[in-house]
Amino acid sequence: MQVASTYSPVCPGSTIPSVFETVQGNKVPVFFSRYPAGISIAAREVEDAVRKIDEEASEEGTRERHQAIVRHANPYGSFFTIGHCSAFPERLVLFSTLAEVLWLHDDVTEEMDHASACREHDEMLKVLQLNIDQSIFESGSMRQKALAVVLQKAIDIDPKEAPTMIKELRKYLATFDCIGGDFTQMEDYMPYRIANSGYWMSSYFIRWGMNMTLTEEEYASVEQFDIAMGNVVGLTNDYFSWNVEKDSQTDRLRNGVMVLMKEHQTTADAAKAMLLGVIVEQESLAAKLKEERLKKPASKKILQYFEAIELYVGGSCYWHSTAPRYQIFE
Ligand SMILES: [Mg+2]
Repeated sequence: MQVASTYSPVCPGSTIPSVFETVQGNKVPVFFSRYPAGISIAAREVEDAVRKIDEEASEEGTRERHQAIVRHANPYGSFFTIGHCSAFPERLVLFSTLAEVLWLHDDVTEEMDHASACREHDEMLKVLQLNIDQSIFESGSMRQKALAVVLQKAIDIDPKEAPTMIKELRKYLATFDCIGGDFTQMEDYMPYRIANSGYWMSSYFIRWGMNMTLTEEEYASVEQFDIAMGNVVGLTNDYFSWNVEKDSQTDRLRNGVMVLMKEHQTTADAAKAMLLGVIVEQESLAAKLKEERLKKPASKKILQYFEAIELYVGGSCYWHSTAPRYQIFE
């Protein structure tokens, strides 16, 4: 893997494990995030594991395998090693392979009609149990089998946390594609898109990756910050992926450019510029909410969570800014 040659040491004062190196997003012309980005020291190991799981969970020559190859073609690193750079390497490998199977699943189901896609989601839900049904290994689909293997490893590495982990995964699968049709208003779309982009699952695994849990009270105290950052993540994907998604054949395109075009009866170019404005506003809001929160006493865990989520958001912008697939300008 060729990685950006602009590494610098992890910032002084960092509260999270030294398991990543920082990268300079601002050297990338289309990067616009206010947040820093990094890459895991275990990047190579993670990428090898993800390629292996792609082979186990998808058939050669299929669209989803092709999509996975394209996704991994970013010379600056993979989405997981950048976005989840705060995770301990062993946990990062497990989360990345788990999320990769779900990403393949999303690629397979996104072009199905909504009713068929929901049936496929229900099939995958069957795997997500504390006591995995052994018959999955005999009769399941490739994706079910691959998910069952990696889920078992994630359960074994942290049995105490396993029930919550499974609850979060089930919530993702049950909600990320639970509404059919198109959206015409950003106020309806944005909360849906947070779950649809996998933000709630990813932010849970950011805590899991650092072997860290917030109390209910601590988590509630950062909820509004989380919502703003979730908006940034989902809409940043929309911003960069618009050119490759705009002509896709689906009954439910998930892209804020299209929602803004409908809401304001405007062109794609104008809507895309508006979307960038929405993202920057949400980042400002998140920064303001963090500042407010830090006026009150904050545990080390809260500080770690803020720092890791900021790396996730900055990393997401960095990855999208450098992914060859998205660098098509018309
Ligand atoms: Mg997209």
